[in-house]
Amino acid sequence: MMTNSLESQCSHLDQIGDFPSGQTVCPQCVEMGDRWVHLRQCLVCGHVGCCDNSKNTHATKHFHASDHPLLRSLEPGDSWIWCYEDEVIIDGHPAGKNQK
Ligand SMILES: [Zn+2]
Ligand SMILES: [Zn+2]
Ligand SMILES: [Zn+2]
Repeated sequence: MMTNSLESQCSHLDQIGDFPSGQTVCPQCVEMGDRWVHLRQCLVCGHVGCCDNSKNTHATKHFHASDHPLLRSLEPGDSWIWCYEDEVIIDGHPAGKNQK
């Protein structure tokens, strides 16, 4: 059993890969000719999808299809990570710190 200490809010952080953060579109929405509200990026494989305020919720669909629990916001100024499994927001995690 996992303890629920503050230090280990999320047990998936070691799955985070190294991805460019320069995407500005949801590719699946573009393909459908649809629009999105905010962009989210899967931190396990780098997939880019749209947020739950968007009609197509591609980021959440990606989680259900892939079991990749971690995503971050691609919105300028946002630095949080969301874990679907643990349902926690990790604020200011330095994922993507290598972005130029
Ligand atoms: Zn987690
Ligand atoms: Zn989308
Ligand atoms: Zn993924």
